[in-house]
Amino acid sequence: MEEVVEGTTTVKVAVRVRPLSDKEIREGGTECVEVTENSVTLVQENQQPHVFAFDHVFGVDSTQPQVFDMLGMPLLDKAFEGYNATVFAYGQTGSGKTHTMMADRKSDDRGLIPRISDNLFQRVGSLSSETHKFLICCSFLEIYNEIVYDLLVPRGKNAPKTGLEIREGKGIGVYVKDLQEIVVDSSDKVLKLIDQGFEHRATAATQMNATSSRSHCLFIIKMHQKAHGSKHLSGTLATDCPLVALTLPLSQDEQNAGNNNFSKMNLVDLAGSERASRTGAQGDLLKEGANINKSLSALGNVINALSSMASGSKKVFIPYRNSKLTRVLQESLGGNALTTMMAALSPSKTNADESLSTLNYAKRAKTI
Ligand code: ADP
Ligand code: MG
Repeated sequence: MEEVVEGTTTVKVAVRVRPLSDKEIREGGTECVEVTENSVTLVQENQQPHVFAFDHVFGVDSTQPQVFDMLGMPLLDKAFEGYNATVFAYGQTGSGKTHTMMADRKSDDRGLIPRISDNLFQRVGSLSSETHKFLICCSFLEIYNEIVYDLLVPRGKNAPKTGLEIREGKGIGVYVKDLQEIVVDSSDKVLKLIDQGFEHRATAATQMNATSSRSHCLFIIKMHQKAHGSKHLSGTLATDCPLVALTLPLSQDEQNAGNNNFSKMNLVDLAGSERASRTGAQGDLLKEGANINKSLSALGNVINALSSMASGSKKVFIPYRNSKLTRVLQESLGGNALTTMMAALSPSKTNADESLSTLNYAKRAKTI
C-alpha cells in the first residue's frame, strides 16, 4: 500500500506565536511561551519547562514580510529550480494559521500566499528576454470529512456527495480528477481566484452547517517553465490550457538542467488541530473530529518518514494512502521537494495544553 520514494526531501519546521488576543487578556490569560530564533519554551505551573528546537521561530512581534522571507522565498526558489514545495499551517483554531497564510489579501498585512503570488509574477516579469516561457495555473480545493471539493466551482445543492476522485495515471502520477486548473498571468488574477474560492467555501459551509476551521484548504500553483524553441506545452497538464508566454533569460545552470521544468507550490491551511472532545462534539461533529485527527496524524507520519529519508535512510516507506490529504499531495512531498511545517501557537496560559500538543506534533515532524 505504501510508496517507496528516493531523493533528497528537505523538511523544515517553523513555529509562529501570535500576540495575546483581547479575549485571552479578558479571560486572564498571560503568556506562557518564550521564544528565541530557534527555540520555544512552554512554561506551565508546577511543571518543568518544555523546551523545543526548530528551524525558525517567529515571536509575537514577527511581521508578515519576515515570515515571507524565511518561508516563502525558499519555496519560490525551489519552484523556479523545477521542484515541488509545500507549506502546511498547523495549529488549533484561532492560533493564526489563516493569518500567516492569507490574512487580508489586499492589505499591507497580507500573508504568505498573496506574497508568494506577487513575488512569482515579479520574478517572471522583471526579466525580459525571449528565452523562456511560463505557463502558470492555479487550483484551489478543500478536504472536508475526507471528501475533496473544488473551491473554484460553486458547490450546488446537487453536488455529488462523494466529491472529486483521486486517481493515478501512467506518466502523470497522482491527480485529482476534474479539478479546475485556471491559467493565470498576473497576481491580480490569483487574488481573484482566491476570493472566488473563499466565497464558494463560505456558501458551502453555510449549507452544510460547518465552519471553515474543520476542513483542510489547499491552494496550488502549478508552474511549467520551458526553454525557448519548443513551441508546444504538453505533458502533465491535465487541461488544454492556452500558452501564457512570459519571457525570461535562462541561466547557464538552468540551461544545463534541460529546458522543461514542472513544479507545484502547495499552500495548505490545515483544519484546526484541537481535539473533538474539547468542543463536546457528538454525532456529525464527532465524525468530523475523527476525520481531522486521522488526516493530521497521517500527515505527521508522512512528514516524519520524509525527514528520516532526508537524514540518510536511503529507502523509506511513505504511508501516503492513509488520508486524502497526503494522497492528494503525494507527488509533491517526496523526491527533491521542500516541505515546510508552520505550527501556529497561542501564547496564552489558557491554551497551554493545546500549544504543548502542537509543539509535540511539530517536533515529531523532524524527529526520526
Ligand atoms: P486560525 O486560522 O488558526 O483559526 P486566525 O489566523 O484566524 O487563526 O487567527 C485568529 C485571530 O488572531 C485573528 O483575528 C487574527 O487576525 C489574529 N492573529 C493571528 N496571528 C496573528 C499575528 N501574528 N499577529 C496579529 N494578529 C494575529
Ligand atoms: Mg483559519
